[in-house]
Amino acid sequence: MYDKIDTARRALLSKLAALGAIAPLTGVAITAGSPAAADERAEDGHAHDYVNDAADAADHRRYREGSLCSNCIFWQGGDEEWGGCQHPAFRNVEVNANGWCNAWARGS
Ligand code: SF4
Repeated sequence: MYDKIDTARRALLSKLAALGAIAPLTGVAITAGSPAAADERAEDGHAHDYVNDAADAADHRRYREGSLCSNCIFWQGGDEEWGGCQHPAFRNVEVNANGWCNAWARGS
């Protein structure tokens, strides 16, 4: 019986979480589709070999020409120079639109 209740409760919580309905109750900010509330700007070496200018990563074994923060799947947008990144390692910093890190993945 308790298994049924737990399963039903988990299903309900999962649906509420998907709708963002529990954010006010938990204090968890849901930021999908909006720039992160960054406290500061990332500096070279912040994480994942990040650089503010992708040209500085030209010799990196994982760098592919044309890959930039602004065309990465984790890019959240911002202004022409700085914006948010959804990757957990960059949650509290803005990254440069022309930057790059080795977690880059093709976005739009
Ligand atoms: S994950 Fe993408 S947007 Fe974020 S710092 Fe790395 S390359 Fe830039």
